[in-house]
Amino acid sequence: MTKPYTRDYWENVLSALKPEGRHFIDGELSASSSGQTFTRIRPMDGKPGGVLARGNAADIDRAVTAGRAAFASGVWRHKDPAEKKKIMLKWAQLIRDHGDELAMLETLDVGKPVMASLTVDVRLCADGIQFYGEMIDKLYDEVAPTPPSERAIVRKVPIGVIGAITPWNYPMIIDAWKLGPAIAAGNSVVLKPAEQSSLSAIRLAQLGFEAGLPAGVLNVVTGFGEETGKPLALHMDVDMIAFTGSTEVGKLIMGYAAQSNVKRVALELGGKSPLVVFADADLDAAASAVAWGCFYNSGETCHASTRLIVQRSVQDALIAKIEAVTRSDIALAHPFEPSAQIGALIEEEHMNKVLSMIAAGEKEGGRRAFGAERVLSETGGYYVSPGVFVDMTNDMSLARQEIFGPVLAAIPFETEEEALRIANDTIYGLAGAVFTTDMNRAHRFSESLHAGTVWINTYDMANFATPFGGFKQSGFGRDRSVHAIDKYCDYKTIWQHFG
Ligand code: NAD
Repeated sequence: MTKPYTRDYWENVLSALKPEGRHFIDGELSASSSGQTFTRIRPMDGKPGGVLARGNAADIDRAVTAGRAAFASGVWRHKDPAEKKKIMLKWAQLIRDHGDELAMLETLDVGKPVMASLTVDVRLCADGIQFYGEMIDKLYDEVAPTPPSERAIVRKVPIGVIGAITPWNYPMIIDAWKLGPAIAAGNSVVLKPAEQSSLSAIRLAQLGFEAGLPAGVLNVVTGFGEETGKPLALHMDVDMIAFTGSTEVGKLIMGYAAQSNVKRVALELGGKSPLVVFADADLDAAASAVAWGCFYNSGETCHASTRLIVQRSVQDALIAKIEAVTRSDIALAHPFEPSAQIGALIEEEHMNKVLSMIAAGEKEGGRRAFGAERVLSETGGYYVSPGVFVDMTNDMSLARQEIFGPVLAAIPFETEEEALRIANDTIYGLAGAVFTTDMNRAHRFSESLHAGTVWINTYDMANFATPFGGFKQSGFGRDRSVHAIDKYCDYKTIWQHFG
Protein backbone atom coordinates (compact mmCIF):
# COMPACT_ATOMS: atom_id res chain seq x y z
CA MET A 1 0.00 0.00 0.00
CA THR A 2 1.33 3.45 -0.85
CA LYS A 3 2.08 5.52 2.23
CA PRO A 4 0.48 8.94 2.72
CA TYR A 5 3.62 11.04 2.42
CA THR A 6 2.15 14.15 4.06
CA ARG A 7 3.95 16.66 6.22
CA ASP A 8 2.42 14.99 9.30
CA TYR A 9 3.73 11.63 8.17
CA TRP A 10 7.28 12.97 8.08
CA GLU A 11 6.86 14.81 11.39
CA ASN A 12 5.98 11.41 12.89
CA VAL A 13 9.03 9.78 11.29
CA LEU A 14 11.14 12.55 12.78
CA SER A 15 9.70 12.23 16.27
CA ALA A 16 10.39 8.46 16.28
CA LEU A 17 14.00 9.00 15.14
CA LYS A 18 17.02 8.68 17.40
CA PRO A 19 19.98 9.62 15.19
CA GLU A 20 23.21 7.83 16.09
CA GLY A 21 26.25 10.11 16.04
CA ARG A 22 29.12 7.89 17.19
CA HIS A 23 31.87 6.45 15.02
CA PHE A 24 31.39 2.91 13.73
CA ILE A 25 34.70 1.07 14.14
CA ASP A 26 35.37 -2.69 14.02
CA GLY A 27 31.68 -3.53 14.09
CA GLU A 28 30.87 -1.30 17.05
CA LEU A 29 29.68 2.20 17.80
CA SER A 30 32.24 4.18 19.72
CA ALA A 31 32.74 7.68 21.10
CA SER A 32 35.77 9.75 20.13
CA SER A 33 38.92 8.95 22.04
CA SER A 34 38.94 12.62 23.10
CA GLY A 35 35.32 12.38 24.27
CA GLN A 36 34.53 15.45 22.15
CA THR A 37 31.34 15.92 20.16
CA PHE A 38 29.83 18.58 17.89
CA THR A 39 26.24 19.49 17.07
CA ARG A 40 24.94 19.69 13.54
CA ILE A 41 22.57 22.61 12.86
CA ARG A 42 19.62 21.61 10.66
CA PRO A 43 19.53 23.70 7.48
CA MET A 44 15.73 23.43 7.14
CA ASP A 45 15.05 25.49 10.29
CA GLY A 46 18.38 26.42 11.90
CA LYS A 47 17.68 24.22 14.95
CA PRO A 48 20.16 21.78 16.53
CA GLY A 49 20.19 18.39 14.79
CA GLY A 50 22.37 15.35 15.46
CA VAL A 51 25.20 15.25 17.99
CA LEU A 52 28.30 13.70 16.43
CA ALA A 53 31.57 12.30 17.65
CA ARG A 54 34.38 14.73 16.88
CA GLY A 55 37.02 12.40 15.51
CA ASN A 56 40.78 12.91 15.57
CA ALA A 57 43.95 11.15 14.42
CA ALA A 58 43.67 8.52 17.19
CA ASP A 59 40.16 7.56 16.02
CA ILE A 60 41.38 7.34 12.44
CA ASP A 61 44.20 5.12 13.60
CA ARG A 62 41.79 2.77 15.40
CA ALA A 63 39.63 2.52 12.27
CA VAL A 64 42.61 1.91 9.96
CA THR A 65 43.92 -0.78 12.35
CA ALA A 66 40.51 -2.50 12.27
CA GLY A 67 40.39 -2.25 8.48
CA ARG A 68 43.91 -3.67 8.15
CA ALA A 69 43.16 -6.56 10.52
CA ALA A 70 40.04 -7.51 8.53
CA PHE A 71 41.99 -7.32 5.28
CA ALA A 72 44.95 -9.31 6.58
CA SER A 73 42.73 -12.06 7.98
CA GLY A 74 41.03 -12.53 4.60
CA VAL A 75 37.68 -12.77 6.39
CA TRP A 76 36.05 -10.78 3.59
CA ARG A 77 38.28 -10.90 0.54
CA HIS A 78 38.68 -14.68 0.69
CA LYS A 79 35.02 -15.41 1.31
CA ASP A 80 33.17 -17.41 -1.35
CA PRO A 81 32.07 -14.83 -3.98
CA ALA A 82 28.50 -16.18 -3.91
CA GLU A 83 28.38 -15.60 -0.17
CA LYS A 84 29.81 -12.08 -0.51
CA LYS A 85 27.22 -11.30 -3.16
CA LYS A 86 24.41 -12.45 -0.85
CA ILE A 87 25.66 -10.13 1.89
CA MET A 88 25.87 -7.12 -0.43
CA LEU A 89 22.38 -7.79 -1.80
CA LYS A 90 21.00 -8.12 1.72
CA TRP A 91 22.66 -4.81 2.58
CA ALA A 92 20.96 -3.16 -0.40
CA GLN A 93 17.62 -4.58 0.73
CA LEU A 94 18.11 -3.33 4.31
CA ILE A 95 18.79 0.14 2.91
CA ARG A 96 15.46 -0.02 1.05
CA ASP A 97 13.68 -1.41 4.14
CA HIS A 98 14.97 1.54 6.20
CA GLY A 99 14.19 4.04 3.44
CA ASP A 100 12.05 6.46 5.47
CA GLU A 101 14.56 6.61 8.29
CA LEU A 102 17.55 7.10 5.97
CA ALA A 103 15.67 9.72 3.94
CA MET A 104 14.89 11.63 7.12
CA LEU A 105 18.53 11.50 8.29
CA GLU A 106 19.65 12.83 4.91
CA THR A 107 17.09 15.63 4.94
CA LEU A 108 17.93 16.67 8.51
CA ASP A 109 21.57 16.99 7.53
CA VAL A 110 21.32 18.39 4.01
CA GLY A 111 17.98 20.27 3.92
CA LYS A 112 16.78 18.68 0.67
CA PRO A 113 13.10 17.63 0.31
CA VAL A 114 12.55 14.38 2.13
CA MET A 115 10.71 12.91 -0.87
CA ALA A 116 13.81 13.59 -3.00
CA SER A 117 15.95 11.94 -0.31
CA LEU A 118 13.65 8.91 -0.43
CA THR A 119 13.01 8.55 -4.14
CA VAL A 120 16.44 9.61 -5.42
CA ASP A 121 19.15 9.39 -2.74
CA VAL A 122 18.03 6.27 -0.84
CA ARG A 123 17.05 4.50 -4.06
CA LEU A 124 20.33 5.21 -5.84
CA CYS A 125 22.34 4.29 -2.76
CA ALA A 126 20.62 0.88 -2.56
CA ASP A 127 20.91 0.41 -6.33
CA GLY A 128 24.64 1.19 -6.16
CA ILE A 129 25.33 -1.38 -3.44
CA GLN A 130 23.24 -3.91 -5.39
CA PHE A 131 25.00 -3.18 -8.72
CA TYR A 132 28.44 -3.94 -7.25
CA GLY A 133 27.12 -6.84 -5.17
CA GLU A 134 25.87 -8.44 -8.36
CA MET A 135 29.31 -8.04 -9.96
CA ILE A 136 31.14 -10.00 -7.27
CA ASP A 137 30.66 -13.45 -8.83
CA LYS A 138 31.26 -12.19 -12.37
CA LEU A 139 34.81 -10.89 -12.02
CA TYR A 140 37.33 -13.08 -13.83
CA ASP A 141 41.14 -13.07 -13.80
CA GLU A 142 43.15 -13.46 -17.03
CA VAL A 143 45.64 -15.95 -18.41
CA ALA A 144 48.30 -14.16 -20.46
CA PRO A 145 49.68 -15.53 -23.77
CA THR A 146 52.94 -17.40 -22.99
CA PRO A 147 55.00 -20.28 -24.45
CA PRO A 148 53.49 -23.72 -23.57
CA SER A 149 56.08 -24.42 -20.86
CA GLU A 150 54.90 -21.36 -18.94
CA ARG A 151 51.65 -20.08 -17.53
CA ALA A 152 51.06 -16.48 -16.43
CA ILE A 153 47.93 -15.69 -14.51
CA VAL A 154 47.04 -12.01 -14.24
CA ARG A 155 45.08 -11.65 -11.02
CA LYS A 156 42.97 -8.66 -10.10
CA VAL A 157 43.50 -8.26 -6.37
CA PRO A 158 42.11 -5.79 -3.84
CA ILE A 159 44.41 -2.94 -2.85
CA GLY A 160 44.01 -3.09 0.93
CA VAL A 161 42.64 -0.34 3.18
CA ILE A 162 40.80 2.41 1.32
CA GLY A 163 40.14 5.81 2.85
CA ALA A 164 36.95 7.33 1.43
CA ILE A 165 36.33 11.04 2.01
CA THR A 166 32.94 12.31 0.84
CA PRO A 167 31.03 15.62 0.54
CA TRP A 168 27.64 16.75 1.81
CA ASN A 169 25.57 17.30 -1.32
CA TYR A 170 24.54 13.70 -2.11
CA PRO A 171 26.02 11.89 0.90
CA MET A 172 24.40 8.46 0.56
CA ILE A 173 24.76 8.27 -3.20
CA ILE A 174 28.43 9.21 -3.19
CA ASP A 175 29.11 6.89 -0.24
CA ALA A 176 27.58 4.04 -2.26
CA TRP A 177 29.64 4.98 -5.34
CA LYS A 178 32.76 4.38 -3.24
CA LEU A 179 31.71 1.64 -0.82
CA GLY A 180 30.04 -0.51 -3.49
CA PRO A 181 33.06 -1.13 -5.75
CA ALA A 182 35.71 -0.89 -3.00
CA ILE A 183 34.04 -3.53 -0.82
CA ALA A 184 32.95 -5.70 -3.77
CA ALA A 185 36.61 -5.80 -4.85
CA GLY A 186 37.54 -7.18 -1.41
CA ASN A 187 39.01 -4.11 0.30
CA SER A 188 38.41 -2.67 3.76
CA VAL A 189 37.18 0.92 3.96
CA VAL A 190 37.46 3.78 6.42
CA LEU A 191 34.79 6.30 5.44
CA LYS A 192 35.08 9.94 6.55
CA PRO A 193 31.79 11.61 5.61
CA ALA A 194 31.48 15.40 5.49
CA GLU A 195 30.99 16.94 8.94
CA GLN A 196 27.70 18.41 7.69
CA SER A 197 26.23 15.06 6.66
CA SER A 198 27.42 12.07 8.69
CA LEU A 199 24.17 10.60 10.03
CA SER A 200 23.30 8.48 7.00
CA ALA A 201 26.88 7.14 6.74
CA ILE A 202 26.80 5.77 10.29
CA ARG A 203 23.45 4.08 9.61
CA LEU A 204 24.71 2.65 6.30
CA ALA A 205 27.65 1.05 8.10
CA GLN A 206 25.39 -0.41 10.79
CA LEU A 207 23.12 -1.89 8.12
CA GLY A 208 26.11 -3.33 6.26
CA PHE A 209 27.26 -5.04 9.45
CA GLU A 210 23.74 -6.33 10.09
CA ALA A 211 23.72 -7.75 6.55
CA GLY A 212 26.90 -9.72 7.30
CA LEU A 213 29.92 -7.55 6.46
CA PRO A 214 32.60 -8.75 8.88
CA ALA A 215 33.77 -6.33 11.59
CA GLY A 216 36.44 -3.94 10.34
CA VAL A 217 35.49 -4.16 6.67
CA LEU A 218 33.54 -0.90 6.82
CA ASN A 219 34.39 1.74 9.42
CA VAL A 220 33.04 5.28 9.71
CA VAL A 221 34.85 8.09 11.51
CA THR A 222 32.98 11.39 11.81
CA GLY A 223 34.55 14.80 12.24
CA PHE A 224 36.13 17.76 10.51
CA GLY A 225 38.35 17.71 7.45
CA GLU A 226 41.56 18.92 9.09
CA GLU A 227 41.08 16.72 12.15
CA THR A 228 39.97 13.44 10.53
CA GLY A 229 40.24 13.65 6.72
CA LYS A 230 43.82 14.89 6.83
CA PRO A 231 45.16 12.17 9.18
CA LEU A 232 43.34 9.59 7.05
CA ALA A 233 44.98 10.87 3.87
CA LEU A 234 48.38 11.07 5.60
CA HIS A 235 48.11 7.64 7.25
CA MET A 236 51.00 5.31 6.41
CA ASP A 237 48.82 2.20 6.44
CA VAL A 238 46.09 3.47 4.10
CA ASP A 239 46.65 2.25 0.53
CA MET A 240 44.34 4.58 -1.35
CA ILE A 241 42.17 7.67 -0.88
CA ALA A 242 38.97 7.93 -2.88
CA PHE A 243 37.91 11.55 -2.53
CA THR A 244 34.90 13.56 -3.67
CA GLY A 245 34.83 17.24 -2.83
CA SER A 246 36.24 20.58 -3.85
CA THR A 247 39.18 21.01 -6.20
CA GLU A 248 40.94 22.99 -3.46
CA VAL A 249 40.87 20.07 -0.99
CA GLY A 250 41.53 17.57 -3.81
CA LYS A 251 44.89 19.25 -4.38
CA LEU A 252 45.69 18.92 -0.66
CA ILE A 253 44.83 15.21 -0.81
CA MET A 254 47.37 14.68 -3.62
CA GLY A 255 49.94 16.43 -1.46
CA TYR A 256 49.15 14.27 1.59
CA ALA A 257 49.52 11.13 -0.54
CA ALA A 258 52.89 12.30 -1.77
CA GLN A 259 54.08 13.32 1.71
CA SER A 260 53.16 9.95 3.24
CA ASN A 261 53.28 6.56 1.51
CA VAL A 262 52.55 7.38 -2.16
CA LYS A 263 49.06 6.01 -1.68
CA ARG A 264 46.85 5.95 -4.73
CA VAL A 265 44.40 8.78 -5.17
CA ALA A 266 41.13 9.08 -7.06
CA LEU A 267 39.52 12.51 -7.17
CA GLU A 268 36.00 13.61 -8.09
CA LEU A 269 36.12 17.39 -7.85
CA GLY A 270 34.24 20.54 -8.78
CA GLY A 271 32.64 21.74 -11.98
CA LYS A 272 31.24 24.70 -13.90
CA SER A 273 29.42 22.78 -16.57
CA PRO A 274 28.29 24.41 -19.83
CA LEU A 275 24.92 23.75 -21.43
CA VAL A 276 25.00 25.08 -25.01
CA VAL A 277 21.74 25.92 -26.79
CA PHE A 278 21.69 26.66 -30.54
CA ALA A 279 18.85 28.64 -32.11
CA ASP A 280 17.55 25.55 -33.93
CA ALA A 281 17.04 23.61 -30.66
CA ASP A 282 13.74 22.55 -29.12
CA LEU A 283 13.60 25.48 -26.69
CA ASP A 284 10.96 23.90 -24.43
CA ALA A 285 13.13 20.82 -23.91
CA ALA A 286 16.21 23.01 -23.42
CA ALA A 287 14.45 25.25 -20.87
CA SER A 288 13.37 22.28 -18.79
CA ALA A 289 16.86 20.73 -18.96
CA VAL A 290 18.53 24.00 -17.95
CA ALA A 291 16.18 24.65 -15.04
CA TRP A 292 16.38 21.14 -13.57
CA GLY A 293 20.07 20.79 -14.48
CA CYS A 294 21.02 23.96 -12.64
CA PHE A 295 18.48 24.20 -9.81
CA TYR A 296 17.91 20.60 -8.70
CA ASN A 297 19.28 20.02 -5.17
CA SER A 298 19.33 23.85 -4.87
CA GLY A 299 22.26 23.95 -7.27
CA GLU A 300 24.42 21.95 -4.84
CA THR A 301 25.41 19.52 -7.57
CA CYS A 302 28.97 19.15 -8.86
CA HIS A 303 27.81 18.73 -12.47
CA ALA A 304 25.04 21.39 -12.31
CA SER A 305 24.55 23.16 -15.65
CA THR A 306 25.57 26.52 -14.24
CA ARG A 307 26.70 28.12 -17.51
CA LEU A 308 24.00 28.48 -20.14
CA ILE A 309 25.75 29.32 -23.41
CA VAL A 310 22.92 30.41 -25.67
CA GLN A 311 22.76 31.66 -29.26
CA ARG A 312 21.97 35.36 -28.89
CA SER A 313 18.89 35.34 -31.15
CA VAL A 314 17.03 32.99 -28.75
CA GLN A 315 18.38 34.19 -25.39
CA ASP A 316 15.28 36.17 -24.39
CA ALA A 317 12.82 33.50 -25.50
CA LEU A 318 14.76 30.78 -23.70
CA ILE A 319 15.12 32.74 -20.46
CA ALA A 320 11.35 33.39 -20.44
CA LYS A 321 10.75 29.64 -20.78
CA ILE A 322 13.31 28.84 -18.05
CA GLU A 323 11.55 31.25 -15.73
CA ALA A 324 8.17 29.68 -16.51
CA VAL A 325 9.45 26.13 -15.86
CA THR A 326 11.20 27.21 -12.66
CA ARG A 327 8.11 28.92 -11.29
CA SER A 328 5.67 26.16 -12.24
CA ASP A 329 7.71 22.99 -11.64
CA ILE A 330 10.53 23.63 -9.18
CA ALA A 331 8.73 24.52 -5.96
CA LEU A 332 10.95 25.71 -3.14
CA ALA A 333 9.42 24.81 0.23
CA HIS A 334 10.04 23.28 3.63
CA PRO A 335 11.58 19.83 2.99
CA PHE A 336 8.61 17.98 4.56
CA GLU A 337 6.06 19.60 2.22
CA PRO A 338 4.91 17.09 -0.41
CA SER A 339 5.09 19.86 -3.04
CA ALA A 340 8.76 20.68 -2.33
CA GLN A 341 11.14 20.05 -5.23
CA ILE A 342 14.03 21.94 -3.66
CA GLY A 343 14.77 22.91 -0.07
CA ALA A 344 17.47 24.63 1.96
CA LEU A 345 21.16 25.21 1.35
CA ILE A 346 23.56 23.23 3.51
CA GLU A 347 24.38 25.83 6.18
CA GLU A 348 24.17 29.50 7.07
CA GLU A 349 27.79 30.18 6.18
CA HIS A 350 27.32 28.62 2.75
CA MET A 351 24.09 30.58 2.15
CA ASN A 352 25.90 33.81 3.00
CA LYS A 353 28.71 32.86 0.61
CA VAL A 354 26.20 32.24 -2.19
CA LEU A 355 24.45 35.56 -1.48
CA SER A 356 27.74 37.44 -1.49
CA MET A 357 28.74 35.84 -4.80
CA ILE A 358 25.39 36.98 -6.23
CA ALA A 359 26.00 40.52 -4.95
CA ALA A 360 29.53 40.53 -6.42
CA GLY A 361 28.13 39.30 -9.74
CA GLU A 362 25.67 42.21 -9.83
CA LYS A 363 28.45 44.69 -9.07
CA GLU A 364 30.40 43.34 -12.03
CA GLY A 365 27.44 44.19 -14.29
CA GLY A 366 25.51 40.91 -14.38
CA ARG A 367 21.82 41.56 -15.14
CA ARG A 368 19.41 39.60 -12.94
CA ALA A 369 16.48 38.18 -14.92
CA PHE A 370 14.74 36.73 -11.86
CA GLY A 371 15.24 35.08 -8.44
CA ALA A 372 18.53 34.46 -6.61
CA GLU A 373 17.28 35.91 -3.32
CA ARG A 374 17.05 34.73 0.25
CA VAL A 375 13.52 33.46 0.94
CA LEU A 376 11.60 31.75 3.78
CA SER A 377 13.91 33.41 6.31
CA GLU A 378 11.03 33.33 8.85
CA THR A 379 11.54 29.53 9.10
CA GLY A 380 15.06 30.04 10.45
CA GLY A 381 16.33 27.92 7.53
CA TYR A 382 18.77 28.77 4.75
CA TYR A 383 16.78 29.11 1.54
CA VAL A 384 17.80 30.88 -1.69
CA SER A 385 15.43 30.99 -4.67
CA PRO A 386 16.59 29.80 -8.10
CA GLY A 387 17.78 32.73 -10.20
CA VAL A 388 19.23 33.66 -13.57
CA PHE A 389 21.70 36.31 -14.71
CA VAL A 390 21.72 37.21 -18.40
CA ASP A 391 24.03 38.93 -20.90
CA MET A 392 27.00 37.62 -18.98
CA THR A 393 30.51 37.16 -20.29
CA ASN A 394 32.61 34.14 -19.45
CA ASP A 395 35.17 36.18 -17.53
CA MET A 396 32.65 37.32 -14.89
CA SER A 397 32.91 35.66 -11.49
CA LEU A 398 29.41 34.13 -11.68
CA ALA A 399 30.49 32.37 -14.88
CA ARG A 400 33.86 31.20 -13.57
CA GLN A 401 33.49 30.25 -9.93
CA GLU A 402 31.64 27.24 -8.64
CA ILE A 403 28.79 28.84 -6.66
CA PHE A 404 27.14 25.63 -5.41
CA GLY A 405 23.81 27.44 -5.18
CA PRO A 406 20.80 27.86 -7.51
CA VAL A 407 22.34 30.51 -9.76
CA LEU A 408 22.58 30.35 -13.55
CA ALA A 409 24.82 32.55 -15.70
CA ALA A 410 23.52 32.95 -19.27
CA ILE A 411 26.26 33.82 -21.78
CA PRO A 412 25.17 34.72 -25.34
CA PHE A 413 27.18 33.69 -28.44
CA GLU A 414 26.96 34.16 -32.22
CA THR A 415 28.89 31.28 -33.87
CA GLU A 416 29.56 27.61 -33.18
CA GLU A 417 33.31 28.27 -32.81
CA GLU A 418 32.63 30.95 -30.22
CA ALA A 419 30.25 28.66 -28.30
CA LEU A 420 32.86 25.89 -28.16
CA ARG A 421 35.61 28.28 -27.08
CA ILE A 422 33.45 29.64 -24.24
CA ALA A 423 32.29 26.16 -23.19
CA ASN A 424 35.88 24.88 -22.89
CA ASP A 425 37.19 28.06 -21.27
CA THR A 426 37.13 26.76 -17.69
CA ILE A 427 39.52 24.95 -15.37
CA TYR A 428 36.84 22.25 -14.95
CA GLY A 429 35.74 19.39 -17.21
CA LEU A 430 33.08 17.42 -15.37
CA ALA A 431 30.06 17.58 -17.70
CA GLY A 432 28.43 19.55 -20.51
CA ALA A 433 25.57 19.46 -22.98
CA VAL A 434 24.55 20.66 -26.41
CA PHE A 435 21.00 21.30 -27.62
CA THR A 436 20.55 21.40 -31.40
CA THR A 437 18.51 19.62 -34.07
CA ASP A 438 21.55 19.51 -36.40
CA MET A 439 23.00 16.06 -35.63
CA ASN A 440 26.26 16.74 -37.48
CA ARG A 441 26.82 19.71 -35.23
CA ALA A 442 25.77 17.71 -32.14
CA HIS A 443 28.37 15.09 -33.03
CA ARG A 444 31.13 17.66 -33.72
CA PHE A 445 30.36 19.53 -30.54
CA SER A 446 30.15 16.53 -28.25
CA GLU A 447 33.53 15.30 -29.54
CA SER A 448 35.17 18.69 -28.89
CA LEU A 449 33.75 19.48 -25.47
CA HIS A 450 36.37 18.62 -22.82
CA ALA A 451 34.21 16.91 -20.23
CA GLY A 452 33.79 13.47 -18.66
CA THR A 453 30.11 13.37 -19.69
CA VAL A 454 28.48 15.16 -22.63
CA TRP A 455 24.72 15.07 -23.10
CA ILE A 456 22.96 15.76 -26.41
CA ASN A 457 19.46 17.26 -26.17
CA THR A 458 19.13 16.21 -22.52
CA TYR A 459 20.84 16.79 -19.18
CA ASP A 460 21.77 14.70 -16.15
CA MET A 461 20.62 11.39 -17.58
CA ALA A 462 22.68 8.52 -16.18
CA ASN A 463 22.58 5.00 -14.85
CA PHE A 464 24.98 2.64 -13.15
CA ALA A 465 26.26 1.38 -16.49
CA THR A 466 27.92 4.72 -17.25
CA PRO A 467 31.14 6.00 -15.63
CA PHE A 468 31.06 9.40 -13.92
CA GLY A 469 33.98 11.74 -13.35
CA GLY A 470 35.92 14.63 -14.74
CA PHE A 471 38.64 15.91 -17.03
CA LYS A 472 41.04 18.73 -16.14
CA GLN A 473 40.69 20.05 -12.58
CA SER A 474 37.43 18.13 -12.08
CA GLY A 475 39.64 15.19 -11.15
CA PHE A 476 40.49 11.69 -12.34
CA GLY A 477 39.30 8.15 -11.76
CA ARG A 478 35.70 7.19 -12.37
CA ASP A 479 32.79 6.39 -10.08
CA ARG A 480 29.90 4.17 -11.25
CA SER A 481 29.91 1.45 -13.93
CA VAL A 482 31.93 -1.77 -14.10
CA HIS A 483 35.09 0.34 -14.60
CA ALA A 484 34.90 1.73 -11.06
CA ILE A 485 35.95 -1.70 -9.73
CA ASP A 486 39.34 -1.38 -11.51
CA LYS A 487 40.13 1.68 -9.41
CA TYR A 488 40.02 -0.45 -6.27
CA CYS A 489 42.12 -3.34 -7.67
CA ASP A 490 45.75 -3.99 -8.44
CA TYR A 491 47.03 -6.35 -11.14
CA LYS A 492 49.26 -9.12 -9.88
CA THR A 493 51.08 -11.53 -12.22
CA ILE A 494 51.72 -15.10 -11.09
CA TRP A 495 54.15 -16.75 -13.55
CA GLN A 496 54.56 -20.51 -13.35
CA HIS A 497 57.23 -22.58 -15.14
CA PHE A 498 56.38 -26.18 -16.08
CA GLY A 499 59.85 -27.28 -17.30
P1 NAD B 1 35.09 19.94 0.60
O1 NAD B 1 36.22 19.73 -0.31
O2 NAD B 1 35.09 21.13 1.47
O3 NAD B 1 34.93 18.69 1.59
C1 NAD B 1 34.84 17.37 1.10
C2 NAD B 1 35.33 16.42 2.17
O4 NAD B 1 36.70 16.67 2.41
C3 NAD B 1 34.61 16.57 3.51
O5 NAD B 1 34.43 15.30 4.07
C4 NAD B 1 35.60 17.38 4.32
O6 NAD B 1 35.49 17.19 5.72
C5 NAD B 1 36.91 16.84 3.80
N1 NAD B 1 38.04 17.74 4.01
C6 NAD B 1 38.04 19.10 4.09
N2 NAD B 1 39.31 19.55 4.28
C7 NAD B 1 40.12 18.47 4.31
C8 NAD B 1 41.52 18.28 4.47
N3 NAD B 1 42.36 19.29 4.67
N4 NAD B 1 42.00 17.02 4.42
C9 NAD B 1 41.18 15.95 4.22
N5 NAD B 1 39.85 16.07 4.09
C10 NAD B 1 39.32 17.31 4.13
O7 NAD B 1 33.78 19.86 -0.32
P2 NAD B 1 32.26 20.02 0.13
O8 NAD B 1 32.03 21.44 0.45
O9 NAD B 1 31.90 18.99 1.15
O10 NAD B 1 31.49 19.59 -1.23
C11 NAD B 1 31.34 20.44 -2.27
C12 NAD B 1 32.39 20.21 -3.33
O11 NAD B 1 32.38 18.85 -3.73
C13 NAD B 1 32.12 20.99 -4.60
O12 NAD B 1 33.31 21.54 -5.09
C14 NAD B 1 31.57 19.95 -5.55
O13 NAD B 1 31.71 20.25 -6.91
C15 NAD B 1 32.34 18.75 -5.15
N6 NAD B 1 31.65 17.53 -5.58
C16 NAD B 1 32.16 16.83 -6.63
C17 NAD B 1 31.50 15.68 -7.08
C18 NAD B 1 32.03 14.88 -8.23
O14 NAD B 1 31.63 13.73 -8.36
N7 NAD B 1 32.90 15.41 -9.04
C19 NAD B 1 30.33 15.27 -6.43
C20 NAD B 1 29.84 16.02 -5.37
C21 NAD B 1 30.53 17.15 -4.94
